[in-house]
Amino acid sequence: MAYLQLQGIEKFFGDHRAIKGIDLNINQGEFVVFVGPSGCGKSTLLRLIAGLEHIDGGKLTLDGKDITHLPSSKRDLAMVFQSYALYPHMSVYENMSFALKLAKVDPKIVEDKVQNAARILNLTQYLQRTPKELSGGQRQRVAIGRAIVRSPKVFLFDEPLSNLDAALRGQTRVEIAKLHRDLGATTIYVTHDQVEAMTLADRVVVLRDGVIEQVGTPLELYDHPANQFVAQFIGTPQMNVLPLQQVPPLIQQQAPAGAVGGAIGLRPESVSVRATGVTPVAGTVDLVEALGAETLIYVSTPSGAQFVARQNDRTGLHAGETVSLDIDASQAHWFDTAGRVIAR
Ligand code: ATP
Repeated sequence: MAYLQLQGIEKFFGDHRAIKGIDLNINQGEFVVFVGPSGCGKSTLLRLIAGLEHIDGGKLTLDGKDITHLPSSKRDLAMVFQSYALYPHMSVYENMSFALKLAKVDPKIVEDKVQNAARILNLTQYLQRTPKELSGGQRQRVAIGRAIVRSPKVFLFDEPLSNLDAALRGQTRVEIAKLHRDLGATTIYVTHDQVEAMTLADRVVVLRDGVIEQVGTPLELYDHPANQFVAQFIGTPQMNVLPLQQVPPLIQQQAPAGAVGGAIGLRPESVSVRATGVTPVAGTVDLVEALGAETLIYVSTPSGAQFVARQNDRTGLHAGETVSLDIDASQAHWFDTAGRVIAR
């Protein structure tokens, strides 16, 4: 039996059905990331698990115990928020020890747990400071430390890194990955950041409009998206998805029967652009983004198709140039008229 089990979970805000009968099994020690467009219900689902919102239907089980209607404080979960939610007038030490003191844990054990968490998170030298004397990254580590000392059954993270600048976000992401490797704690993490989802997750749950579109490892979702929505949601830049009639006949001919009237999906790395030479597809460069290690080239064709190609060289191309496109149709994803993937 799964460690954390969601069965037919429902949530209404007034008439609005925000979460629509979600079933999900999470294993002990697993790192699961919820992703999806704004408003899809990621935070709500996390808050339902945390006990911060009332569950309107279905059943939630943790470690064999029904916790559907158990108060948050009794669920043995710890949540880390984007806003840190630290007590401003307390020191780092007091912030981290507060929940344990409240639970009347032996002061010796509290001391050990706080010192241990501080060591893991490189906070030992900051224990006597108050939150306002810390950087954003340090504050977020305190918030994580406060969760760690409680040794919860499940860690819940709601966009914990979104207030940090890019460099610090990268560093803290690596720290969270290490922490998970060291503690092996079951973790559910909400983010809208692709890199966080792809690098941290054992499994990613893609949500849309209160339902699960697909669950899988990051590379399963990248390589084998179940539908056009997941295909375009996972991966940056987005997968190129074009109506079949916009691509050259040579490529159309390779489409499986079910894709007639549908679309073709090509990852940017399955398209390459050359300044010269003859291919079935000619286009005009709209924009070149040289990112250093890779270059993104945006091209439009006379048939109205727009592609982005990703290449590992500098290309030397410029906007306005006429180019040829090489399309690796063996890497194509084919979609039917409803946006479902056609198996080949
Ligand atoms: P974001 O990425 O923008 O944070 P999200 O995927 O986390 O979005 P939720 O915050 O879970 O989305 O919201 C899901 C839906 O429920 C949205 O349509 C939202 O407007 C609605 N909703 C969330 N909280 C409430 C509330 N307290 N009252 C009414 N509607 C709510």
